[in-house]
Amino acid sequence: MLKSPLLAATALLALSAPALAQRSMPTPVAPDPRIAALRDKALSDDTAYAIVESVTTEVGPRPDGSAAEERARTWAVAKMKALGFQNVRVEPFTLPIWQRGIETAEIVAPFPQPLRLTALGNSGATPPEGVTLPVAYFASFNDLLLAPAGSLAGKIAFVSNAMQPTQDGSSYGSQGMARFVGPNIAASKGAAAIIIRSIGTDHGRGPHAGNTNFAPGVTPIPAAALSVADAENLERIVKLGKPVMLHLTLTPKQLGEGPSGNVVGELPGTDPAAGVVLVGGHLDSWDLGTGAIDDGAGIAITAAAARLVHADGKHRRTIRVVWFGDEETGGFGGIAYAKAHAGERHALAAESDFGADRVWRFNVNLPDSAKAVGDRLAVALAPLGIVRGTAVAGDGTDVEPTLKTGVAAIDLNQSGLRYFDWHHTPEDTLDRIDPAQLAQNVAAWTAMLAIVANAPEEIGTVTPKQ
Ligand SMILES: [Zn+2]
Repeated sequence: MLKSPLLAATALLALSAPALAQRSMPTPVAPDPRIAALRDKALSDDTAYAIVESVTTEVGPRPDGSAAEERARTWAVAKMKALGFQNVRVEPFTLPIWQRGIETAEIVAPFPQPLRLTALGNSGATPPEGVTLPVAYFASFNDLLLAPAGSLAGKIAFVSNAMQPTQDGSSYGSQGMARFVGPNIAASKGAAAIIIRSIGTDHGRGPHAGNTNFAPGVTPIPAAALSVADAENLERIVKLGKPVMLHLTLTPKQLGEGPSGNVVGELPGTDPAAGVVLVGGHLDSWDLGTGAIDDGAGIAITAAAARLVHADGKHRRTIRVVWFGDEETGGFGGIAYAKAHAGERHALAAESDFGADRVWRFNVNLPDSAKAVGDRLAVALAPLGIVRGTAVAGDGTDVEPTLKTGVAAIDLNQSGLRYFDWHHTPEDTLDRIDPAQLAQNVAAWTAMLAIVANAPEEIGTVTPKQ
């Protein structure tokens, strides 16, 4: 919730004179009318919506290493060319492919009924006929950590920590541990399988997919996420105190190494020595929905903004849009990009991968020589309701390997209040996207790209976010 101007003014008036003197005053910046006009034009540009509509309709779900993902690359090359991008190409790489199989579960006792769940990426498999085993309940990830070694032998661990919505998405990092490393912990304590409450903020019956990882030497166990409603039901049954038996069948497969690729397009600038501005999102998606908010929106927002800047006239720096081929199952797209472009000068890297809701804050990581870029950005973004944050920028799986080499960063943070209602679920579809909020994103990215691509300052290297 934004503070009302009246409250903010009252708070300022309440400061004593010394406190007022200590407030760090923003640098005065004259608004650039050309940037303002371009930003406002972006608010009524429907290119981004058309891109995300096209990818979700004409390709659909795009799981890593699948035939659908290959079709997505073909779609992407044609789309980038149609949008006017130059040097459009696929930069191939390979990744380990995990393929979903049958996934069913039923409570056998004390109250027989089916449960809705989905296997986590890299989950191990049960025998084809499934397993019937007792449940060991953990109210939180911390409780799982406290379980004695070997205490889970012959059991299905059930971790039911609940995630609350946060604007900055920070609850994903903390509650998500149950998915990111919970299966590895359960396996190392001897569990036969693990089920978790979906890492999501909805109360529906659509489970949230997502990746997990097992440490070298730990044999992967079957691992799945229950829908939030089913997890709450199972939790109520556990709390009635009778032993709970589950029948669980998961038959995913590891298919070995297979092809993927990043799709790259450029809008050339006038000064090749000034460094490339790298932006983008990821083309792959989980398979349950159609990958609209994750991350059809991100590829659409960044490409639409780049195109608007280019259409406005010459710009100093080349804008490179990358639709990364793998984010969801290990970030192999970003790793491959950084490797293929090592040694090339990048002025800045930024990605959009947090849905399609409004940008509410930005952070920067800019060298001292380019500090004024952040000040100009603050003035250009304020009319969109975007505040300047104080954190060091550098978010994003796709650009992180590039940022780690000392490339400057700007994060345009989207609101996470609704994102985890649909993240990685069957509900990640086009109708979840609010066109007005999507357009606000494009306006923010357009202003940012216009400022950065044309900045007269040199944008040298920075200390990466830790
Ligand atoms: Zn994503």
